[in-house]
Amino acid sequence: MATLVLNCGSSSVKFALLDLAAGITHLSGLAERLGAAEASVTLRAGGEAWDQPIPGGSYADAFAVLAAELDTRGLGKDVEAVGHRVVHGGEHFQAPALIDGEVLAAIRACVPLAPLHNPANLAGIEAAQATFPQVAHVAVFDTAFHQTMPEVVYRYAVPDAWYTQHGVRRYGFHGTSHAYVAEEAARRLGRPLAELNLITAHLGNGASVAAVQGGRSVDTSMGLTPLEGLIMGTRSGDVDPGLHEFMARQAGLSLTQVTAALNQASGLRGLSGGLGSDMRELEQAAAQGHAGARLAVAAFVYRLAKQMAGMAVALGRVDALVFTGGIGENSATVRAATLERLGVLGARLDPQANALAVRGQGGLISAPGSLPALVVNTNEELAIARTAAQVLQGVTA
Ligand code: ADP
Repeated sequence: MATLVLNCGSSSVKFALLDLAAGITHLSGLAERLGAAEASVTLRAGGEAWDQPIPGGSYADAFAVLAAELDTRGLGKDVEAVGHRVVHGGEHFQAPALIDGEVLAAIRACVPLAPLHNPANLAGIEAAQATFPQVAHVAVFDTAFHQTMPEVVYRYAVPDAWYTQHGVRRYGFHGTSHAYVAEEAARRLGRPLAELNLITAHLGNGASVAAVQGGRSVDTSMGLTPLEGLIMGTRSGDVDPGLHEFMARQAGLSLTQVTAALNQASGLRGLSGGLGSDMRELEQAAAQGHAGARLAVAAFVYRLAKQMAGMAVALGRVDALVFTGGIGENSATVRAATLERLGVLGARLDPQANALAVRGQGGLISAPGSLPALVVNTNEELAIARTAAQVLQGVTA
């Protein structure tokens, strides 16, 4: 039996069909530029990749291509569950949920909290239910893992009614990844997750840090939206909340324009003077002496180390640091510079191990006697597939 994992964005769908028992991915791929003339689906299987154009295609068109491919391969009948990544579950979802009318309504109620993501997730779920009507559909939320944060952590010091009437609080994101790498780190350390206090850093285009105590999130750097916290590819992370009005007055920008600039033109892109948001390219430019690139990388590292050190307060005792995401898994430079700043927590780098933990299986990158630091490759598809299968077992057991 196999689990189909779907991650529906506003104009794209990432998908993967996993056989959890055999530990293999049968098929994966990406539908892009949905709704546009150049819309296409890229499929990958057995080491090969190929494209299929679906001009002006919708989610339904992309799923039709996927379903046809599954049937061609005789895999269609094996699909027993579809796991959907859903960005915002608000306070309603502390756990994944088998999708029914009530669950769809609750996801819809969270649209104001994630106006770009949740509508896309909903449209994707509805199209997938129509294409794969015989199987169970499960929603796995980015926010659910962080619902265990205590109130002193998740409340903002704003008027009480903003929280009670509008849900203004910190939610946190990347929960699936933080949960997965925490579990994986415990396995690698050979210790029960229940006993461990971990600081996990998910560093991709979006980036966040979490404090994970006994497998439960007790703090994270993202908040009401995925804009808070670390410096990211194009997102600012923390800024002074007075900045919006300041820029509105100084530059005549609307609230929407300021928010767009903070989401799309800030972060590494902003600090590098517009050079780019890609860490690998910025590291190369920094090595060649580009001042903006140097500043962007150094500021990224500083804010990351500061957030990670702050998580020690949430945990009391820190047992290990965990790096993941495209940057965490591949940038030996960022990890080295971050650990150097985290000497304050008792972390010391093993430069050789750090250099080796690139594009590989990850592993320990700290020196003997140091606070352990590890690289763990995240696998959100696998985590969603496992979660969906667990929900199904819970329901059918
Ligand atoms: P997303 O959040 O979109 O899933 P990823 O987790 O793939 O993104 O992370 C993308 C980031 O990882 C980019 O900034 C990219 O430059 C960075 N990255 C990937 N490989 C390397 C590398 N070898 N060295 C430095 N950065 C890298």
